[in-house]
Amino acid sequence: MIFMELNENAKEQEFLRKKFRQFYETNEITYPSKVQNREFGIGEFGKKIVKRHMSFANSNFFNKFLKEDVPFYVSASASLYKRPDFRPMEKKEMFGSELIYEFDADDIKTDCRNGHDSWKCMQCNALGSGTLEKCPSCGSNSLSLDQWFCPECINETKKQVFALVNILKEDFGIKEGLYINFSGNAGFHVHVENQAVEKLSKEARIQLLDYLTLHEINLELLGFFLQKKTFVCPKDPCFGQIKRIKTALSDMLSKADIGELATYGLIPKSKLKSLLQNKNFVLESLSSGTLFSIDAGAEANKKFWLNILNYIASKIALDIDRQTSSDIYKLVRVPNTIHGGTGLIAKVIKFEDLSKFDALKDAVAFKEGRTKVYITKVPRFYLYGNYFGPFEKAEVELPDYAAIYLIAKGKAKLV
Ligand SMILES: [Zn+2]
Ligand SMILES: [Zn+2]
Repeated sequence: MIFMELNENAKEQEFLRKKFRQFYETNEITYPSKVQNREFGIGEFGKKIVKRHMSFANSNFFNKFLKEDVPFYVSASASLYKRPDFRPMEKKEMFGSELIYEFDADDIKTDCRNGHDSWKCMQCNALGSGTLEKCPSCGSNSLSLDQWFCPECINETKKQVFALVNILKEDFGIKEGLYINFSGNAGFHVHVENQAVEKLSKEARIQLLDYLTLHEINLELLGFFLQKKTFVCPKDPCFGQIKRIKTALSDMLSKADIGELATYGLIPKSKLKSLLQNKNFVLESLSSGTLFSIDAGAEANKKFWLNILNYIASKIALDIDRQTSSDIYKLVRVPNTIHGGTGLIAKVIKFEDLSKFDALKDAVAFKEGRTKVYITKVPRFYLYGNYFGPFEKAEVELPDYAAIYLIAKGKAKLV
């Protein structure tokens, strides 16, 4: 079966490899740092990792390998080892590990996904648009998803990156060794490479993760609780998690959206009249350490504020995958290499350039040439400033970057 598939795509794979080789022949890859201490892994068409436990003596050997072997994916360990090619893992002798946080657009629910994603139920053959976890017809969770990404959902992941970088800088004073790269598909990776974090234990990494994701926060311990008949909170100035919660609460109260407050506070709108009429006073009280008492008894007031605070905590918690973030053995795409599932560059971005970074444009590697392809079925998609499609069972001549993108995604063949 696998052999058949490989054979079926032989021409396409050869085409992609030729293009990727051109890229590596003209672009020196200067990441990761400390090449000699990293474990590397490579992938082939449709498979991100087919081989790991590889190592290179230095960056020159690594670049030589990229030019000669041209892997479709290349990843390196977040951890540093004395003997990165030894196995099992314990024999590698780890002596440090950088922090890498991954944000992916497919973890974030955005409206645009109804426009570009689709699903098919493998049980009952029902199909529809968007991304679902369960089939609405038969309840099965074996769905085949066809996921695409657009500037809207990728920008949504940027917000997470901004929030994370601000916390790392403000709450932890991390300023050195922080850099960001596009994943090459639909998200961003934030790397922290400095001595302060390199030696953190696994437990410390999990605590850090808990802090960032507000995992199981105890509002009372943070200073939000009912004192006699008043719900109190820490006074300004605040720091860390308290500051994040209070800032978001202040934003929510400033908007004074009665529907939102009633929905998430689980209280009838009629009880929120004086809260809305006294907005300025409400905000001043928040700053000086009291949450305004709504038109209800102390117990209902307490429940209202706890509901609102818990809602806010869930809203501002960073969407970081616990599993991958605390896995010290993980391999992560080498920055500035090609993502074999899109043909885009996993491009390094300066933090100050992130807001204007247009991933599906600025990460395009193959800007010249045109190629004719046969497309099975694709929705309208955006690349390098242009929109293409939708196409279904069509033979089209496309700019190379778009043809490569579709071929790499397994959606088109050469003609
Ligand atoms: Zn179904
Ligand atoms: Zn989108």
